[in-house]
Amino acid sequence: MENLLRALELCVFPKHCLLCGANENYICHACEGGIRYVLTYSCVICKGPCFDGFIHTNCTSAQTPNRFLAAFEYKGVIKEALISAKYKKKIFDLYGLLVDLACEYFESIGLEIGADAIIVPIPSGKRKYKKRTFNHALIIANLFAKKYGVKVVPALIKLKDTPSQSLLNRKERKRNVKGVFAAVPRFAQEIKGKDIVVIDDIVTTGATMLSACKELRKLGKNAPRYVYGISLAYDSLNRK
Ligand SMILES: [Zn+2]
Ligand SMILES: [Zn+2]
Repeated sequence: MENLLRALELCVFPKHCLLCGANENYICHACEGGIRYVLTYSCVICKGPCFDGFIHTNCTSAQTPNRFLAAFEYKGVIKEALISAKYKKKIFDLYGLLVDLACEYFESIGLEIGADAIIVPIPSGKRKYKKRTFNHALIIANLFAKKYGVKVVPALIKLKDTPSQSLLNRKERKRNVKGVFAAVPRFAQEIKGKDIVVIDDIVTTGATMLSACKELRKLGKNAPRYVYGISLAYDSLNRK
């Protein structure tokens, strides 16, 4: 019966695998098998190996996040999927699928997001937003929030448009995001004492994420409590 319903659903609302075209889902079963998860993490501050994304105690300060996680390696199936999701229309459902898989994986390595946590998306610049008419990090943030039953708080704004990080080397990336984000003071109270999950789609050197977390950390005493930097994919190949 379940199979019949599923077949019927596919007839009425056909979904094609974005990668191989199979009439099954945005990522079909076979392609899903090609997804590579991030299995070893390095500390986003010192770049040395670390356990499950926990930033070394010695490397944390009042301005750093505490844990930094990405679910997938940015290659193959995932790379194609994320490029599609960013530049083609009407496939936001794909993000839903990826968030489901990512959360399953994060839970398997002990990520627990409490009911009083809040989700903060990395904001996009005005120019990029105009061009794409949506902020992919916000879409992912909304999906995360729904999954964990928590709130999205747009506590960060982007002060200026910057060249795409993917065009720059590590040093330039750091410079590129310096002073780019600001935390919105009116959210200070809402953030106080909370766990914050900062969300982006792809992380490479972590410069964007670190810069964003730093601004949230600066929002007054005791705020926030614990900061997670979370992205769907980790682009280790583009690290220069
Ligand atoms: Zn496929
Ligand atoms: Zn470290």
